[in-house]
Amino acid sequence: MLEKYGKAFDNKAILRTPQWLKMQSKNAKQKAKKFAKEEKESLKACPICESEEVVEFAKIYAFIYKECQNCQNLFLSNPLKDLKKLYTNDGKESAFECYLSDALFTKRLEHIAKPKVGFIDEIAKNCENKLWLDIGSGGGENLYAAKALGYEVVGYESDLKLLQFSNEKLKGDYVKQGFLDIQNCDKSLLETIKNAGIITFFNVLEHLSNPKQVLEFFAQNMQKNALLVIEVPRHPSLSSYVNALASDKVYRHLIPPFHLNIFSEKALKILGGGGQLKVVGKWAFGQGFMDLLHSFKDFDKNKALYEKLSQLSNPIQKILDANDLADFLILVFQK
Ligand SMILES: [Zn+2]
Repeated sequence: MLEKYGKAFDNKAILRTPQWLKMQSKNAKQKAKKFAKEEKESLKACPICESEEVVEFAKIYAFIYKECQNCQNLFLSNPLKDLKKLYTNDGKESAFECYLSDALFTKRLEHIAKPKVGFIDEIAKNCENKLWLDIGSGGGENLYAAKALGYEVVGYESDLKLLQFSNEKLKGDYVKQGFLDIQNCDKSLLETIKNAGIITFFNVLEHLSNPKQVLEFFAQNMQKNALLVIEVPRHPSLSSYVNALASDKVYRHLIPPFHLNIFSEKALKILGGGGQLKVVGKWAFGQGFMDLLHSFKDFDKNKALYEKLSQLSNPIQKILDANDLADFLILVFQK
């Protein structure tokens, strides 16, 4: 079992300026208010462990996150009835326009993809099967990093522009159009799930209403010894605390109605693909300290002090991460 805490992070390096951050929280507010008018469900029990012992944790615009008192999972108790409404797009404009830039690709590759892929590679070193499948491959930077380490790579991405961008970067047709639908799984995707040695499924599970069934689907179809790697928002964390207290400033982590679950480690162990998946690696890291700074109105009013505090983020965050307060979790399961 490989365990790791803390990940160096530089807002500036991935072009997150104070202006960008303020715009993000404005957008998050607009979207939440827009979708609040849609028909909603009302969950009475924890979607992971089914306990009815749940308490309100945060109210963000019209959306309520509840915390399970049995497994500590945080879940959106009034999600939209029709989740598809959140992701409909006319295809003319990529919802991820911001990723389609060479400069950002290089930065995301260095600062985000390479460390993650390197961590997984450390665990996968002894595995013979070098087929790496990335579902929801985004701008393709994870596949790029995996390919550079000698893996055979395949990606699936639903956004056409991201897909084309990725294939240009990868210099070949490595990424196909598609997404995971466990009720009606695309044949070639299912085939790749069955053959892969490593499956990465980053930042998707929190958007799905059926995380339990999805992990069970993987567990049933994966090869014995294959790895499934997920990255999810994590609770308890400083970020959850900040989001709950400064609920009009959220722009990541607790973002209703998009994030349906902010997973506790206990919840993920309960999930574990119906007992077929065991945890072999864990990396907890976060940005809660920066979230704390960003929860103040005019947080960059005093630029010199803001810069100085920002530079201390990594060592402070590492202490938080090692003390069970990280807001992100990469979990490596093995079948
Ligand atoms: Zn629970």
